[in-house]
Amino acid sequence: MDHTPFNLFCSIPLSCAELGKALQAHVAGKVTAIGDPAYEDLRRALVWNEPAPGRRPTLICRAATEHDVMAAVDFARAHRLKVAVRGGGHNWVGFSLRDHSLLIDLGELKRVISIDAKAHTATVQPAVRGRELNAALAKSGFAFPVGHRPTVPLSGFLLNGGLGCNFGGWGPGCLSIEAANVVTADGRLVVASDTRYPDLLWAIRGAGPGFFGVITQYRLKTRPTPRAITACDYFYAMERMDAVGAWAASIAGKMPKEVELTLFCTAAPRLWRCRRSRATDTSRCSRPPPSPTRRPKPQQRTRRWRAAPPRSGFSARSSISR
Ligand SMILES: Cc1cc2nc3c(=O)[nH]c(=O)nc-3n(C[C@H](O)[C@H](O)[C@H](O)COP(=O)(O)OP(=O)(O)OC[C@H]3O[C@@H](n4cnc5c(N)ncnc54)[C@H](O)[C@@H]3O)c2cc1C
Repeated sequence: MDHTPFNLFCSIPLSCAELGKALQAHVAGKVTAIGDPAYEDLRRALVWNEPAPGRRPTLICRAATEHDVMAAVDFARAHRLKVAVRGGGHNWVGFSLRDHSLLIDLGELKRVISIDAKAHTATVQPAVRGRELNAALAKSGFAFPVGHRPTVPLSGFLLNGGLGCNFGGWGPGCLSIEAANVVTADGRLVVASDTRYPDLLWAIRGAGPGFFGVITQYRLKTRPTPRAITACDYFYAMERMDAVGAWAASIAGKMPKEVELTLFCTAAPRLWRCRRSRATDTSRCSRPPPSPTRRPKPQQRTRRWRAAPPRSGFSARSSISR
């Protein structure tokens, strides 16, 4: 297969392998070119969903430093390659895979750089996940409205707006961005804040995959850790969906802002399935099945269910941060 779609545009024609070698000479991170034996496994590993979309970047550069990002943007411009960006790759549709592009993968930039307890800020690299940020913040009594799944990376989450934990009380995550380091299309590194490049910061707060720079660092406003976070799950049979949906819609606008109510279509938990099927052998159930109508005790924490095979049902989850 001919992997040289850009030779027409380059002043010196290079094969994709040669392009990869040329970029590798300028960056510390690893460069993989289409056609390389490791390419296909890497391409698939970069996206969250299975199956991976059929789009193939020409080069994949796993940035090791901010400088790598600047060098890769310059290289793409010089060689007329489109630039695609991957933050943590935790996106359903795999936006980061683009044909005929140089994919800059920020997945290795995953450090909490510093926490300033006096200024109530945290400085992080883009691929830090919610779990790691809040673990680091907890030591000094702070928290951040990270994604509901602890594995969601901040990179694209914040860029999308970031509807994270307690978003009613704390607001969407993007409003807690104080500043961001951005590599612009001309390869410059700028710091966007309310006072410098405010338009850029405005765009960062919601542009999502349409953003026109590469964010290499966020400075975030942190919040005092809530005294308690209470979460409860209620499970209902699919046939009760209309009634419960109508009830949820009727109370949604009246709840205190720190209460989140979410409805999921999901697999029913194993124990509840035992109860529904009136199974006589419940010896495999480690504790009594919960009643879907029973009110949970006030301090009840999220129940962790063993994985169950798919079965139609849905759940209502409420969580309160105080
Ligand atoms: C299981 C699951 C749970 C989720 N839960 C929530 C939730 O609770 N709340 C919520 O709001 N969202 C949630 N999401 C959505 C999630 O926030 C987005 O998918 C987000 O894009 C993930 O960030 P990422 O960096 O891993 O994305 P990636 O797939 O790496 O990036 C997607 C695109 O965003 C752009 N991008 C990402 N990072 C940068 C950067 N540093 N610079 C420039 N462009 C960049 C690029 O165009 C990239 O192609 C969830 C997703 C999943 C799969």
